[in-house]
Amino acid sequence: MKVFKFGGSSVKDATAMKAVSKIIIDNDDCRIVVISATKNTTNELELIAKESIHSIPKSQELWDKTISRHREIANDLQIDCEFQDLDSEVLELIGKFNKCQMISSEYMDQLYSIGERLSTRILSEYLTSHHSKTVLYKDVREVLITNDNWSKASPLITEIQDAFDLKWKEILKNSLIVTQGFVGVTTEGRTTTLGREGSDFTATILGESLGANEVIIWTDVTGVATSDPRVVENTKFIKKLNYVEASVLAKLGAKVLFERTLEPAIRKGFSVIVKSTLTPSELGSVISDSPPHNGPMAVTTQGDILSIVGDKLLSEKAHCSKRLLEMNQIDYHVHEQEDHFICFKIPSSQMDKALDVVHCWVLEFHQNE
Ligand code: ASP
Ligand code: MG
Repeated sequence: MKVFKFGGSSVKDATAMKAVSKIIIDNDDCRIVVISATKNTTNELELIAKESIHSIPKSQELWDKTISRHREIANDLQIDCEFQDLDSEVLELIGKFNKCQMISSEYMDQLYSIGERLSTRILSEYLTSHHSKTVLYKDVREVLITNDNWSKASPLITEIQDAFDLKWKEILKNSLIVTQGFVGVTTEGRTTTLGREGSDFTATILGESLGANEVIIWTDVTGVATSDPRVVENTKFIKKLNYVEASVLAKLGAKVLFERTLEPAIRKGFSVIVKSTLTPSELGSVISDSPPHNGPMAVTTQGDILSIVGDKLLSEKAHCSKRLLEMNQIDYHVHEQEDHFICFKIPSSQMDKALDVVHCWVLEFHQNE
């Protein structure tokens, strides 16, 4: 049994939605599909909220653009989708923000949820008419119970399992569920969100409740790389990572996974696979309890911090990386150091160079893979 999660760029338009649907239809053991809002929608919702403080009409104008874009996707897919209720909900929230002259984080979470509710409605409708299986649109707020830490809520695992067993377990025997990432609900029924980019976490939380053996995070890169492929040249995809390495990588700024994604996987021991919708036949990166890399595995940056992630980094490897920086006349100081990571503080003017030399060094440890 598998859970699939698709991010915003994988559902950005009708062509992308069709490609995603094909992947779902081709994989019979996928039971739950978790979807992000379409590309940029969450950012647009933030802008709508900000604008609503100053001007209701301007804010509504922005919302019109967002909803029209979704209507267009539905039209291109030749499906009927009703968004009337979501439209009214947003207009009401815009009014509330304007009246209070502030964006309360609870209402912001309600507004955020609109993005995922739009995208899942479209995809589930399209899949219903193209999949031989029964496809059900489900509001994730039936099961994904959290505390009320608005915009950064924590899942309540026991409550989630109970709700899941009661509401979804039986229907999953004969149907495929399409549901929202990122969104949750308090025990009193108030909408929450897990934090920006949190849909990955939704997928593993639901994987835990389902008893999945695999959660696949579908994205637009081939997997987890030795560094950010958009910034660094010649990066290499890492075929296998263990939970600790991948969690440290996510915490230290690798954008490929939301920070808390692996918590449920570690608890239950299922694999999390990161792979690309553009090249679905490629294996991607498998995150499991595989043996660690014995040395540097990847390098990330966050502001003025450059981090080397791997295993056994307290030994001579740390010494080598410091020497490497010195030889290249890079000023550094060690910000934090543990067995799984070394974080260096680097002057911004030297960061590009530091990233380049450290990444070349890290690549040497992948040569025999
Ligand atoms: N749509 C949300 C965001 O953009 C959650 C996610 O995509 O994972 O942050
Ligand atoms: Mg993401």
